[in-house]
Amino acid sequence: MSISYLSLGTNLGERMVNLRVALERLSRSRIMILRLSSVYETEPFEVAYSQARYLNMVIKIDFEQDPFALLQTCLQVEDSLGRQRPHSHAPRTMDIDVLLIDDRTITHERLTVPHPRMERRSFVIHPLSEIEPFLVLPSGRSVAEVKKALGDDEIVGVRKFCHG
Ligand code: ADP
Ligand code: MG
Repeated sequence: MSISYLSLGTNLGERMVNLRVALERLSRSRIMILRLSSVYETEPFEVAYSQARYLNMVIKIDFEQDPFALLQTCLQVEDSLGRQRPHSHAPRTMDIDVLLIDDRTITHERLTVPHPRMERRSFVIHPLSEIEPFLVLPSGRSVAEVKKALGDDEIVGVRKFCHG
């Protein structure tokens, strides 16, 4: 068993549909989804100009293959939802980031794990704390501690994820 956490985000098109389709396609790609957070509506973070709000969530998965196969699956699902990459931080139909893979550290030009910016993003930490509040992050703090320190300024609303 190999436990990983993925962050999903979307701020273009039918955002809820994008999340549903992404989850369905991930689970058809040898990814077993173990837990899902609620869906968080958030203001874009660290972007230079005004953009539509995001829907974000975090999932806990079991994936038995190597980390680069996991990254490839994430990028394929993004592409299948019409993801365009005109520039960094551009609005996107789907962004899937690998947050953690077991307790592995990977530093490669295509893949950095743990995700280097995860601890400063409330749109990652809040949903992750729903799933795994006691998990200790690279800074040595638990998810719940990081959440408390970050606050919730960017979070506009939280709704349960509804299947179907
Ligand atoms: P961002 O998520 O930073 O807005 P992209 O989604 O366009 O940017 O991803 C750009 C590249 O980041 C990917 O092609 C991938 O190779 C690389 N990358 C490095 N580490 C990770 C990670 N932990 N999760 C997802 N992508 C990563
Ligand atoms: Mg990404």
